Amino acid sequence: MARSHNFSAGPAALPLEVLQEAHEEFFDFAGTGMSVMEISHRSDTFIALARQAERDLRELLDVPARYKVLFLQGGASMQFSQVPMNLLRGKASADYLHTGLWSGKAIMAARRYCAPRVAASSEASGFDRVPPASEWRLDPDAAYLHYTENETVHGVQFAAAPEAAVPLVCDACSSLLSKPIDISRHGLVYAAAQKNIGPAGITIVLVDEALLGGALPLTPDVLDYASQARADSMLNTPATYSWYLTGLTLKWIRKSGGVAAIHRANQAKAGLLYREIDASGGFYVNIVQPAFRSINNVPFFLADPSLEPAFLRAAEAAGMRGLKGHASAGGIRASLYNAVGPDAVAALADFMKEFRRVHG
Ligand code: PMP
Repeated sequence: MARSHNFSAGPAALPLEVLQEAHEEFFDFAGTGMSVMEISHRSDTFIALARQAERDLRELLDVPARYKVLFLQGGASMQFSQVPMNLLRGKASADYLHTGLWSGKAIMAARRYCAPRVAASSEASGFDRVPPASEWRLDPDAAYLHYTENETVHGVQFAAAPEAAVPLVCDACSSLLSKPIDISRHGLVYAAAQKNIGPAGITIVLVDEALLGGALPLTPDVLDYASQARADSMLNTPATYSWYLTGLTLKWIRKSGGVAAIHRANQAKAGLLYREIDASGGFYVNIVQPAFRSINNVPFFLADPSLEPAFLRAAEAAGMRGLKGHASAGGIRASLYNAVGPDAVAALADFMKEFRRVHG
């Protein structure tokens, strides 16, 4: 079996062990004689699996008891709307930190429900940083403050969670479970699974129950966090197979030593690539200020953009996939999520060095 080195931004690499386990029990899950996909979400077998996934998640992230853990559908994009629908609670505006493409999309979506205020933006400098907190213009009457912990396209990551006097909402789509996060400082944290946690189809929402119960009147029941919490995220048929694979991946993260150990490995992986970029004498360029460089997504350009197609072709020939930058940003992007092994990253760093030697 030839497995590629997969640097895709999402859906992304899954741990081989997880795929093997799923493969082994594909036709017969837990002695039922049925695939997980074929059993009812109301069955004891599935409910046991769902409860275990929640327990593992709570333990891995040290989620306080007052938080509800939801396994929803609609991706992180749905949260761009679901957050204001549920958390405005009579307020007319919410604050947003604009640090890249994804926070921009969150702001656009919120306009349907309120007047989102951009409390700070790094757009003018090409999204190369998180603006310093001293420059944020926070509204003490905002419904919440929203930030994107890791900007998947621009490769910008917060060095620390913002300080906020209002409930803090975090889009952790590309970083949840790749580094420690203090859930207790947040009102709500969300992430779609398809980067560090599992396959597409499942979105994890951790929400302080004190914020629940005030959804806008037009909110459909399936989008009301309070209703979903009461129904254990099974108000309608959930994405059972994605939930199952997410459960296996959570178990794998525990076996790998938990979030702190995974974080150290992720820092080492990212360090390898940033060192090669910085040592390249400008052959490779990453514009993000070092304090805000992402450990999850490493975007870079070749100083001579005409070499990019050759770079991508040669990388693919060497078994490295998913390196093309996001359509809106161009260039190259290596996503180094939890399941991307150090061997893959070392191979990429070596490849970059060799490509530079030949073309530099
Ligand atoms: N937020 C961030 C930071 C993301 O990276 C993405 C997806 N790349 C999204 C939101 C949207 O996620 P989805 O495609 O699951 O809607």
